[in-house]
Amino acid sequence: MEIGQQYGFETLAIHAGNEPDPTTGAVVPPIYATSTYKQDGVGGLRNGYEYSRSANPTRTALEECLAAIEGGKRGFAFASGLAAEDTLIRSLCVPGDHVVFPDDAYGGTFRLFSKVLGAWGVEMSPAAVTHPEAIRAAIRPGKTKVVWLETPTNPLLNVADIAIVAQIAHDAGALLVVDNTFASPYLQQPLELGADVVVHSTTKYMGGHSDVVGGALIVRDAELADKIAFHQNAIGAVAGPFDSWLVLRGIKTLGVRMDRHSDNAEKVVEFLQRHSAVTSVLYPGVEGHPGHDTAAKQMKRFGGIVSFRVTGGEQHALDICNKAEVFTLGESLGGVESLIEHPGKMTHASVAGTPLEVPADLIRLSVGIETIDDLLHDLDRALA
Ligand SMILES: *Cc1c(COP(=O)(O)O)cnc(C)c1O
Repeated sequence: MEIGQQYGFETLAIHAGNEPDPTTGAVVPPIYATSTYKQDGVGGLRNGYEYSRSANPTRTALEECLAAIEGGKRGFAFASGLAAEDTLIRSLCVPGDHVVFPDDAYGGTFRLFSKVLGAWGVEMSPAAVTHPEAIRAAIRPGKTKVVWLETPTNPLLNVADIAIVAQIAHDAGALLVVDNTFASPYLQQPLELGADVVVHSTTKYMGGHSDVVGGALIVRDAELADKIAFHQNAIGAVAGPFDSWLVLRGIKTLGVRMDRHSDNAEKVVEFLQRHSAVTSVLYPGVEGHPGHDTAAKQMKRFGGIVSFRVTGGEQHALDICNKAEVFTLGESLGGVESLIEHPGKMTHASVAGTPLEVPADLIRLSVGIETIDDLLHDLDRALA
């Protein structure tokens, strides 16, 4: 299938990279469980395949699909979101370079930058990415190579204006990287808004079924793509064929899932806003949320993640998490099943005592696609 502007998102999600198998006509790309490939004479590669760290046909299928649905030129699939991020920074920076970083980024991303990339020599400054002037102030002219955004952020659901931050980054000679995990390309297309690189934890909405860990990078620029391709192979944190196949399958239903996640999240928000034990609801779809206007401008809908704060402090928040039943107590997000968690003690425990520490009375929901009445009854019971 020729990929071009003429196809809509769902068509690309189902068909891009999913060519029928050339040997059998299988409609679904097979899981090519092979590490190496027979050569037709020394150096005679068939379709460029030589060794599966460098390339594997199932991973190629996923990478073509990723590029198409993010509106990029090339996609790269990794063993996890953090593997993708690590490979990206080693492709874009050398020791001594500087990165401007969201002040409420995903905890694992913060740990990677502060403990691993920091030890390698890349410096970073956390900044309130919701405030363009804070990003401008954090930039070190000549040293800042990357401005990193997550929007909406995890777990506070802050929203950064991608187009404005792209301008600021480019004026400073830096690249803009956007972690698009929370929105997914169905709801938000950062490359179109001026970003240079899109990052995903495909573990979340892209895979969508809580059955695989994976990561992705998508870029438009050919030179940048070559640098990443070199580092992907040189570092070797690639997605295996079965994991690639699972993510490729998940992406086919991304559009319908994101619509249902958004429908259910909106109803959960309405319920929480009326509940007397809830002191605030953090969701970009709420009018009055500080990022609402920006989110409405750059997102198709507002997604499935809802955070809220409760009366009674940390103990009450923990009790609610423990009492929920349909909402499974667990880390991660973006699967078909609803999850509940306490960021302070779970996903964001590693940022305690840093500028990224989150409130103790905060609860994060990943609203799934179950029957909405069952989700509301469960919350009602847990909050009682
Ligand atoms: C989960 C997550 C990551 C890390 O991805 P892994 O697949 O767990 O390595 C990065 N960014 C965001 C926003 C995430 O939610």
